[in-house]
Amino acid sequence: MDSPRTADPISALREGDAEQTDAALQVLSTVFGYDSFRGEQAEIIEQVAGGGDAVVLMPTGGGKSLCYQIPALLRSGTGVVVSPLIALMSDQVAALEAVGIRAAYLNSTLERHEAQAVEQQLLAGEIDLLYMAPERLVLPRTIDLLQRARLSLVAIDEAHCVSQWGHDFRPDYMGLSVLADAFPGVPRIALTATATEATHRELTERLRMEDAKHFVSSFDRPNIQYRIEPKASPREQLLKLITAEHEGESGIVYCLSRKSVETTAAWLSERGIPALPYHAGLDARVRQDHQERFLRAEGLIIVATIAFGMGIDKPDVRFVAHLDLPKSIEGYYQETGRAGRDGQPSTAWMAYGLGDMVSQRKFIDSGEGDETFKRNARSHLDAMLALCETVSCRRVQLLRYFGQDSEACGNCDICLSPPQTWDATVPAQKLLSALIRLDRERGQKFGSGQIIEVLLGRENDRSRQSRHEELSVWGIGAELSEKEWRSVMRQLMARGIVDAEGDYGVLVPGSHAGPVLRSEVTVELAVDRSPAKATRSRSSRSGGGGGSRAAEGLEIAERERFEALRTWRTEVAKEKQIPPYMVFSDATLVAIVQSRPESTGALAGISGVGAKKLAEYGDAVLEALGV
Ligand code: ADP
Ligand code: ZN
Repeated sequence: MDSPRTADPISALREGDAEQTDAALQVLSTVFGYDSFRGEQAEIIEQVAGGGDAVVLMPTGGGKSLCYQIPALLRSGTGVVVSPLIALMSDQVAALEAVGIRAAYLNSTLERHEAQAVEQQLLAGEIDLLYMAPERLVLPRTIDLLQRARLSLVAIDEAHCVSQWGHDFRPDYMGLSVLADAFPGVPRIALTATATEATHRELTERLRMEDAKHFVSSFDRPNIQYRIEPKASPREQLLKLITAEHEGESGIVYCLSRKSVETTAAWLSERGIPALPYHAGLDARVRQDHQERFLRAEGLIIVATIAFGMGIDKPDVRFVAHLDLPKSIEGYYQETGRAGRDGQPSTAWMAYGLGDMVSQRKFIDSGEGDETFKRNARSHLDAMLALCETVSCRRVQLLRYFGQDSEACGNCDICLSPPQTWDATVPAQKLLSALIRLDRERGQKFGSGQIIEVLLGRENDRSRQSRHEELSVWGIGAELSEKEWRSVMRQLMARGIVDAEGDYGVLVPGSHAGPVLRSEVTVELAVDRSPAKATRSRSSRSGGGGGSRAAEGLEIAERERFEALRTWRTEVAKEKQIPPYMVFSDATLVAIVQSRPESTGALAGISGVGAKKLAEYGDAVLEALGV
């Protein structure tokens, strides 16, 4: 943590009288090794470096970190970074130290004397960036300490955690409203990848950022392919996704329950796919260990509940799979956004079915929370269902949810193979009639299974007991198969024509049933696509031969050199106990191979090679390349 400042380009810049934007560009290239800013980075940095506040909404992978790291380096004093996850702080600090920035963290994992040392360094002005969790920051003792130090800025990462409307609410974030008064004159920057207007408004208010400048980026992640398919045998479907498209690559699989996390991870492992479980019920040490292995290894899959992922900035996660329906689009977008931070092609895949929908509704109805809370939860779920059942571009829907207009994307399952639709008005009426007759004439309500038996006219103990065959609706739905009925029910439920109710999730006519029963509207439904129709085959994207997707564009001889560099990188990473991508990213390795450097000087201009890494690894890279 107390790495000495190397050849200090930063303070030279700070003391020089260069224009601020020039200075920012110089830090970008000398320290981080990149040659231009992305999106609104330059404007955000200018705002904060000039002492103003900023609220930044940028998608995952958009490059939020530089927006506070560079101003913190340009201004004198220490930048305090509020981050919710203690477990990731040491990695965040290691990544900064790897490029020569003086970074540290204060949290409960430090021994007393270690924390004291950090405090001393802080007061002596020897730290550029200091990470801490909100609960620590708001302690009077910490506020007092920070008031005695010189602060360059306060960055509030994952700022949506302050929003109760959002999906990641953390009560500790509420305390951050004190920052405005405790550190007047210190610029604040709040950052999040959650972009609904409601969250935006709420975080601005709660963090008291009324005077801030707002920067809202496009939320599109064009390199991610969104796909949602009907759930048949979800694990088999997942296995197919992995073997057909993502063999040997890193991915995250989200499940709703701890139990399904465990069983799915075990199931994949038995089939030779390396997978580790992660959920809040695991021992903290096991969790930390699995997280670290995921970050460090290449080609490992983590099967997790939503407890996993915030702050994970592994750039080469190639797919995110959902085996259960997320509770909201915000959550879904955050989770899927963990794929492809490096900008390379990636997949966001989900299997979803009628059962998901019923159980989520049930969960909300029987769960805790007042009526407002439940109403919010239901509207979150409805938006998610609408995304699942859409017959037009998924990306357009997603972005519209975040208030952004776009055109059909050409890179989602709907665009790639538009679903066929059919007129399901009559089946919808039959289903509604069956619900109504059973209720009126027998006083009965059932879940989907028994309703389908009635529609198909299939006898079982329950139907015999209740003399269902005497009802006028008995067997009126024989023209569809059981599977088709499930598809119809799912889609009708997503549109509010059918609803699930009570502890057992029994089906009842929904709020939009009336016009359907009265034939005032027609009901167009999609034909479920069979999961077998993969929309993208491995061969169309890969040059074959496995290995990293980053190397796809390389010639054979270049690939050998790329592999040599990867082997070297693995060794260095192991020795330094940091993830390989912190040494150099795949993209940087490819750029090195392609530029055929003959000297360390030639390495300097390559994206991702900053001054410190050049000094540290330059010779070794040339050696690994056999120069
Ligand atoms: P976010 O926090 O928004 O999810 P990060 O700050 O982790 O995104 O950045 C994502 C990736 O993009 C990182 O690997 C980062 O180094 C890289 N990156 C950010 N800004 C630039 C830039 N201007 N040029 C090149 N790479 C960049
Ligand atoms: Zn699309």
